[in-house]
Amino acid sequence: MLTTNPFDDDTLHEECGVFAIYGHAEAAALTALGLHALQHRGQEAAGIAAFDGKTFNVQRALGHVGDNFSSQEVIGRLKGHAAIGHTRYATTGDVVLRNVQPLFAELSVGGFALAHNGNLTNNQKLRRRLVERGSIFQSTTDTEVVVHLIATSLNNTVVDRMIDALRQVEGAYSCVAMLDDAIIGVRDPNGVRPLCLGKLGDVYILASETCALDIIGADFVRDIEPGELVIIDKDGLHSRHPFPRAQRRFCIFEHIYFARPDSVVEGTSVYEARKHIGAELARESHVDADIVIPVPDSGVPAALGYANEAGIPFELGIIRNHYVGRTFIEPTDQIRHLGVRLKHNANRANIAGKRVILVDDSIVRGTTSVKIVAMMRAAGAREVHMRIASPPTTHSCFYGVNTPERNKLLAAQMDIEEMNDFIGSDSLAFVSIDGLYRAMGKRSRNTSDDQGYCDACFTGDYPISLTDHDNGSGATVSRLAESA
Ligand code: AMP
Repeated sequence: MLTTNPFDDDTLHEECGVFAIYGHAEAAALTALGLHALQHRGQEAAGIAAFDGKTFNVQRALGHVGDNFSSQEVIGRLKGHAAIGHTRYATTGDVVLRNVQPLFAELSVGGFALAHNGNLTNNQKLRRRLVERGSIFQSTTDTEVVVHLIATSLNNTVVDRMIDALRQVEGAYSCVAMLDDAIIGVRDPNGVRPLCLGKLGDVYILASETCALDIIGADFVRDIEPGELVIIDKDGLHSRHPFPRAQRRFCIFEHIYFARPDSVVEGTSVYEARKHIGAELARESHVDADIVIPVPDSGVPAALGYANEAGIPFELGIIRNHYVGRTFIEPTDQIRHLGVRLKHNANRANIAGKRVILVDDSIVRGTTSVKIVAMMRAAGAREVHMRIASPPTTHSCFYGVNTPERNKLLAAQMDIEEMNDFIGSDSLAFVSIDGLYRAMGKRSRNTSDDQGYCDACFTGDYPISLTDHDNGSGATVSRLAESA
């Protein structure tokens, strides 16, 4: 069944990873490995486009990278010396193949493949204008808006068309693209999402995170700068800064939860940042206890930092089953509850009779915390103190991290005492916003700081305009439904 609504948008809740490589005989195989390391950024679908000098070879699939891109047969079909790849995770709307990236378009100036991490905030407005002028959309991703803007631009070269297109979009983006003679990497002027440059011998690589360089033994060169566009071709790397300068606003939630702890993003080790946040949390909200227990896996580095700072033993009091996807992927509340039980189990021997400090990275809906606190009590904990290594999540993200609408965010509905009652803990504390910035090496939160972060999910201070949301054309429009 196909109900066509060109203004559909299922992209408000999207997280992704991107990878690109130019000038290697095994480009697709290396891209598959890179995507495997970026699997945490998107687990619903993945795709690779490779160019062999004549043909753009594209394979896109629903599901994990390892399930779809590990066979010789598939990789063998993706011939080429250049490739780009994408992992996608969108929790609302249909998960259909037509939305899986990289997107490919035959432009008047040649073939063009594009993969995007982030979220455009004026997608609906631009899409409406394009449709009115005759564009026929094939997917419901905001990335396709960029493709149509490029296709209809009057500039001569693909690069100039891409710059023209990106000057019209608002929002967060780290994109990789492939033409018949180059790959391109670009970050939005605020640098909200990460994108780094690596080298394997003489071969340039672009990736969302450094862990995707490590997996193939490539060296980290530098981060792509906010507002920078790099072109990598047979002559090497060319850098341009085609957008007006803007304040740096890297997503602080990448450090708290989203990026992999073994990655270094924007010059900071994610693992170290999380440990520092845990230490700040311990300084700010001390409580007498016998053991510190992380909510695995994302709470582990912060719990280590907390335990070290507080001088309280760190114990693995919860064991995680790694064969279950992230709780958030489950589409309904009912299944989400089930998911949490499937995922975590108490390590009872450590807990009975103890005063426990539980450390998690964040509370979103509160589902995880409710389950875990109850699990600690059922395992015989004498006291359960919940400590959260981020400030209360009070606002939705519109720039590419999946957060539910505000009315589903626990901290948008309740104060800390009410949340403590709801979760069932003996005490609850969050790291303060200034504590978070101190952990990131700043004196405090300072909005005039040009080395700043986007912390809108904690403060409501949105650095990039929310055009679609303000116009009421966000996720409320009807959506495209398709079955194979
Ligand atoms: P909740 O159970 O709704 O309170 O969500 C909090 C849990 O989900 C924490 O354990 C986090 O590690 C994890 N989490 C936080 N943000 C996200 C996200 N954007 N996507 C997936 N999981 C998340």
